[in-house]
Amino acid sequence: MKASAFAYARATSVANALELLAVHGEKAKVLSGGQSLLPAINLRLIAPELIIDIGELAELRGIVVKEGVLTIGALTRHVDLLKSPEIAAHAPLLADAVAHVAHPAIRNRGTIGGNLAHADPASELPACMLALGATIIVRGPRGKRRIATSEFFAGIYETAIEPQELLVAVELPVPLKHSMHFFHEFTRRRGDYAIVGLAAQALVKDGGFADLKLGFFAVGDRPVLARSAGKLVDVLITSAALSEASSALDQELDPLEDQQATPAMRRHLARILLVRCVSSLLDRPDLRTGASM
Ligand SMILES: Cc1cc2nc3c(=O)[nH]c(=O)nc-3n(C[C@H](O)[C@H](O)[C@H](O)COP(=O)(O)OP(=O)(O)OC[C@H]3O[C@@H](n4cnc5c(N)ncnc54)[C@H](O)[C@@H]3O)c2cc1C
Repeated sequence: MKASAFAYARATSVANALELLAVHGEKAKVLSGGQSLLPAINLRLIAPELIIDIGELAELRGIVVKEGVLTIGALTRHVDLLKSPEIAAHAPLLADAVAHVAHPAIRNRGTIGGNLAHADPASELPACMLALGATIIVRGPRGKRRIATSEFFAGIYETAIEPQELLVAVELPVPLKHSMHFFHEFTRRRGDYAIVGLAAQALVKDGGFADLKLGFFAVGDRPVLARSAGKLVDVLITSAALSEASSALDQELDPLEDQQATPAMRRHLARILLVRCVSSLLDRPDLRTGASM
């Protein structure tokens, strides 16, 4: 299949891209790495009248750490996250996760901004943003808006970005010293979208959790920051406590059915990931066998 006819404009600056979006709004689509947009256009799932190519805007690229905040430009590619010393030092969860995003050819072109704007519920990076407490920065006709990740994802392929807005950057608080992370996903083949996955960030103190953020993905119409994590913070972690958190997790997830798995299978896999995460972060192999699942 081929794309239906569309007009093409290469934006010369962020201001120029915003001017084009202000005029064309919903009839236009922004092009970053093209790894999700172009297949959708070629399959005629969408038919924008205008494509606004922002791919050459250097001002949207790069990773900077300043005053305890890690800022990642929207056009920073997946491969840049993988290779960045700043990401390795301050957000290693992202480096671990992005290694599971597709394959090298796609990671060489796909961008963090495009990935988050695309909002695939089975995608790795949105769940990482939840676990890391990220803020998404967008610009539009009324200036800059800062959106907490928990408010950003609105459903399958839906976000809080307005048609005339551009995602320009992501900000992450630099995690406290001694923060730890966990990432794992179940896929049929390496590089596939996840059947279920978990991106977690934690503060471990005296053999327990002083903080625990669990970002599950492919468990519903958007990534989920599990409230059940609260049952594991500031308590003695026993098999019983873990089992209680597992049951609470079961209640709060609302997984979808597709060709890969039933909702029951997804719930089961999410509980397994929870146990593996806790046992691995606390270095407690006994919890894997002790917890009822
Ligand atoms: C075979 C294959 C396998 C894949 N596997 C995975 C996977 O396992 N995990 C995963 O997470 N992803 C996967 N992807 C998707 C890949 O990560 C994409 O790169 C990513 O989802 C989109 O990034 P992009 O820069 O290519 O965005 P584009 O394709 O250019 O754009 C995607 C969408 O976001 C909008 N958009 C782009 N940039 C902006 C912006 N700055 N502001 C506002 N809107 C914007 C576009 O208009 C479009 O609607 C896969 C893709 C392919 C082709």
